[in-house]
Amino acid sequence: MGLVRGSQWVVWGGLAVLLYAGLANHGRDVKVALARLDGPDVRATLAGPDAAPAGSDLSAARLDPDVRDAGPVEKIALAKPEIDVTPLKAADECVLAQDCVDQYLWLVYERAPKMDTIKVKERIKVTAKTKGKTRTVIKTVTKLVDEDFTWKDPKAAQKAGMSSKDYVIGGMDRGFKARLYRLFRALDDAGLAPGMTSGFRDDYRQSIASGNKAATDSSYHGGSRRGGYGHGLAADVVSVKGATRSERWLSTEILWKWIDAHGNEFGIGRPYLNKDPPHIGPIDGKEYAAHRRVKVKYAGG
Ligand SMILES: [Zn+2]
Repeated sequence: MGLVRGSQWVVWGGLAVLLYAGLANHGRDVKVALARLDGPDVRATLAGPDAAPAGSDLSAARLDPDVRDAGPVEKIALAKPEIDVTPLKAADECVLAQDCVDQYLWLVYERAPKMDTIKVKERIKVTAKTKGKTRTVIKTVTKLVDEDFTWKDPKAAQKAGMSSKDYVIGGMDRGFKARLYRLFRALDDAGLAPGMTSGFRDDYRQSIASGNKAATDSSYHGGSRRGGYGHGLAADVVSVKGATRSERWLSTEILWKWIDAHGNEFGIGRPYLNKDPPHIGPIDGKEYAAHRRVKVKYAGG
């Protein structure tokens, strides 16, 4: 037993060094912590105080801004399994990290113009000449019309009694948001300036959506048949790079192709490809499996 106990201390000692090294560099530490958000440890912590095993307390300690100035000795104390780190404290840390992810996703959402080109059917009267007779007939023509849907999410949020941020971002699945965060950061690094035009949508929001859309309760954006608020597993993305709409359209097409090429690394793909190009979701989710008919194993969180 003595040997086991001894090796345990070696492990804790090693972790203390890691913690110390991580905490010595502030900015990087936060980045690493966020990058690790979808790792199994933090996920377990995010799932709630009951689900937090001793191991996840380490991640929590790493995120704690109050602990940063303390020496490595205190950090060992926090990491020791016999010291009680209250569940409430662990939960607080997760909220802090989740807030950080939510804030970033909100900025990505806010900066995207909410403009769509939709098809509108119109019945018009035309004069037709048949067999020398002039007659007026009704013809149906399809027009492409620009639609500004900026007002739709705020209206749905108001109906649900929450802020637009709590609605659009808060309604999405946490694990999915961690993946979105990593994907958007990578797109930003690649110079493609991602913008999110839609996140969570409830049945009401879905009912006032235009263009490509699922039945009111069946949207993976968060329809009631898919679990509703907190379970949104879809987002619509474009690129906001470019001064004019046609420039943004070009960079948006490049962004979609980038996701097709690299999305797997982030566990995200476009289930409908060009049938609904901005729509993305987890590649190991039901929607992707149903429409791409490819079983992709995602190795990450
Ligand atoms: Zn969508």
